[in-house]
Amino acid sequence: VTFRDLGLAEWAVTTCRELGMRKPRRVQRRCIPRVLEGRHVLGIDETGSGKTAAFALPILHRLAEHPFGVFALVVTPTRELAFQLADQFRALGSAVRLRISVVVGGMDMLRQAKELAARPHLVIATPGRIHVLLRDNPDIPSVFSRTKYLVLDEADRVLDVGFQEELKFIFQCLPENRQNLFFSATTTSNLEKLRDRYQDKLYVYEA
Ligand code: AMP
Repeated sequence: VTFRDLGLAEWAVTTCRELGMRKPRRVQRRCIPRVLEGRHVLGIDETGSGKTAAFALPILHRLAEHPFGVFALVVTPTRELAFQLADQFRALGSAVRLRISVVVGGMDMLRQAKELAARPHLVIATPGRIHVLLRDNPDIPSVFSRTKYLVLDEADRVLDVGFQEELKFIFQCLPENRQNLFFSATTTSNLEKLRDRYQDKLYVYEA
């Protein structure tokens, strides 16, 4: 199986080759076609298994077809992970003109609000900071009114570290018909709850 067989555009296949990704890993083989189909996905696999490309590639594929901002919101537990994700999206999306905002704590809030108002294609955020920006800037929630993808990266950690209220608020700012992608290294009770809630609407890949 090749990246082309998974349904990805030729530019994405070429980028993978240039990055030394010769063939898709298991999590990518199983999840990329499901994301392209429009399914909600829960992917559970260990750190380093290639989960990031499993959601980044199909999101970039769809974004390149019909770019509008904000196309995807990616929520991750820490600043460091947010910057790493942005780097991976930039590398995998080097063939498309991408505008990415990293919205994390410890940086100028006014500037972040301005960046969001300019409607980047991708927003990569920690839950605390994106919550404050959405809550305190009346014009920011509408920036997300057409968001197509919500990704919870390290979903086990995002859902477990006491961000319940913040997440609830964030999710309410996104359209209901968005696609939800949850990726995690471990199964937790919160992820089990998601499984129960979505039932057969959720494609589950567990390594
Ligand atoms: P991740 O689990 O997403 O953090 O990815 C771990 C590492 O594996 C990253 O450095 C990726 O660049 C690399 N990687 C992801 N997919 C592939 C692939 N299909 N072939 C080779 N390397 C890959």
